[in-house]
Amino acid sequence: MRKKIVAGNWKMNLDYNEGLALFSEITNMIKDEITGAQEAVVCSPFIHLHSLVQMAKGYSKVSVGAQNAHQAESGAYTGEISAKMIKSVGATYVILGHSERRQYFGETNELLAKKADTALANGLKPIFCIGETLAERDAEIHFGVIKDQLEDGVFHLDAAQFAQLVIAYEPVWAIGTGLTATAPQAQEIHAFIRAEIAAKYGQQLADDTTILYGGSCNAKNAPELFSEKDIDGGLIGGASLKSRDFVDILKVFN
Ligand code: 13P
Repeated sequence: MRKKIVAGNWKMNLDYNEGLALFSEITNMIKDEITGAQEAVVCSPFIHLHSLVQMAKGYSKVSVGAQNAHQAESGAYTGEISAKMIKSVGATYVILGHSERRQYFGETNELLAKKADTALANGLKPIFCIGETLAERDAEIHFGVIKDQLEDGVFHLDAAQFAQLVIAYEPVWAIGTGLTATAPQAQEIHAFIRAEIAAKYGQQLADDTTILYGGSCNAKNAPELFSEKDIDGGLIGGASLKSRDFVDILKVFN
């Protein structure tokens, strides 16, 4: 059975003290309220990672991740953070290929393939993001865009490596806009993604892959989205900045 996951992507929000305060609220609520086998992943800015990992000790359902990692092992890349550094503070996940990284930092599928290699080589689990823009959906090329993102970004991995991944489908037009994909719209893409994984790696690995939905997901629309058979949880932006909302989304899997 594949894992149900709700991951929060804090993006570039919350100073150090604000982040620790939110995380403390989240872990306390999870301890009291979460009864299922779902996993919470909090992807914070780098600044918070070490402290959050320390705070998460003893909470088996809570993991910590970064939002990006450089493709090189180390070197003269001023201002960058390596996968090894992230791993060294005890974080276990890293978001790769978020549409904001693709859009504002020029990250291509080819670059992301290298980032995935380096993250995996350092023992991190990538939450690999894919998804089409509104123009691509309007032009009805969204299936092709998603297929390319998979083929060029992660399908070079061997099966053992691929098994470490979480895939996140985030339609760009739904991120931070309040426009959510409808549950059937999201399910259609999730089923497509799983079929592509099955064609490449076989049905078993496809069935074992957690595929998250992201894009204006909140406590109100999560129950319907997560009831679809190929939607295994969410990657949450805005609603992950409020402990009550984030834990309510997790509670959908209780
Ligand atoms: P919102 O939930 O704020 O739309 O952001 C989604 C997202 O980009 C998560 O990575």
